Amino acid sequence: MKAFYFILTLCFISFTVQSQKKTPYILKPDRIFDGRAMHTNWIVKVNQDTIAYVGSANNYKGTLKDTIIILKGMTLIPGMIEGHGHLFLYPYNQKSWNDQVLKESQSYRVVRATTHAKKNVLAGFTSFRDLGTEGAGYADFGLKKAIDEGLIIGPRLQISSKAIVATGSYGPKDVAPEITIPLGAEEADGENLIKVVRSQIRAGADFIKVYADYRWGKNNTAAPTFSVKELKLIVNTANSSGRQVAAHASTAEGMRRAIEAGIKIIEHGDGATPEIFNLMAAKKVALCPTLAAGYSIERYKGWIPEKNKPPKRILQKQKSFAQALKAGVTIVAGGDVGVFEHGNNVLELEMMVAYGMTPKAVLQSVTAVNAQVFDMPKVGEIKIGNYADLVVVKGNPTKNINDLRNVKMVIKGGDIVLNK
Ligand SMILES: [Zn+2]
Repeated sequence: MKAFYFILTLCFISFTVQSQKKTPYILKPDRIFDGRAMHTNWIVKVNQDTIAYVGSANNYKGTLKDTIIILKGMTLIPGMIEGHGHLFLYPYNQKSWNDQVLKESQSYRVVRATTHAKKNVLAGFTSFRDLGTEGAGYADFGLKKAIDEGLIIGPRLQISSKAIVATGSYGPKDVAPEITIPLGAEEADGENLIKVVRSQIRAGADFIKVYADYRWGKNNTAAPTFSVKELKLIVNTANSSGRQVAAHASTAEGMRRAIEAGIKIIEHGDGATPEIFNLMAAKKVALCPTLAAGYSIERYKGWIPEKNKPPKRILQKQKSFAQALKAGVTIVAGGDVGVFEHGNNVLELEMMVAYGMTPKAVLQSVTAVNAQVFDMPKVGEIKIGNYADLVVVKGNPTKNINDLRNVKMVIKGGDIVLNK
């Protein structure tokens, strides 16, 4: 290592996103979190869009001509994966969900989504699982293509297109029943579910999202929607194409039906019981808790966390999250970003720590665990052959999760997209 030509400035090499010819380079931070564990005296070599070496600096046998970027006081982590987000939504305190779905043109929503995509990457989230366009049709397909082609800056997307809801369950609802309006997701029931799953796959869905319950019970309470038989039709059709199914579910019965139908990822899970979490742990069903969503919605309603007592919904969420941890359920990290500001994704990770996880476990969730559970290849871990999706933060986020807000450098596919 000593023989290497050390270059002390980060600015020595500057890439543009579009750069074709890339010089290999080495990153030498104080420490490297590879997705599973923290290491010191490690380096990473990036060649083109790929990680060519990761490991001890002493064992590196590369060329002396490699450019080295010294990152004093910094931690290098894998590009983070937003596990639950909506690029076609933005905070409801700026514009209500109803108005976004009903009053904004698709062209406007697409332009907005491109700005949201960029904010996610600059915050260190180089991959993003989008849980439905919420009325913007199949627009996620073109957005993903534009990012993949380098036309715009954005995270690697895993998309679900329109998402599936039971007839009569989803919004917008505040209209006369005889008027047909566009909805935030695609309605389907019974045998027709097979056709809708297939048509969403045709439109580019990487996975299928279904609402196993929603606020369509009496007095707008959450209640189960699809029968187990219907959910099984969705799972069988999606799985036979090699795709996963994720279920929105916040009632114990909605979750139970989803688990029985063979769904492996449950989003939200607010109203679960210890029995349901034990069932999830036994069947290896992961929970995406979206803590930041409920927190943000309560704030929009006027709750001031610094001043007021936590509302019922927050207390219930704290309780159920603790139960999920106790039961040993696999926790993926996804905050429902879009409900709150794109680029503020770290809010979810801070809340996971505040609600009982260690910073290290949270960092594992948002990188390696997310990649594994969501079946995202070549991301989430710093290992040879994976994409060079890397984030440099000041400090040590396994000690202090807030350090994830101190992003100094973001690299996606070997391209340095942020360097400050
Ligand atoms: Zn969502």
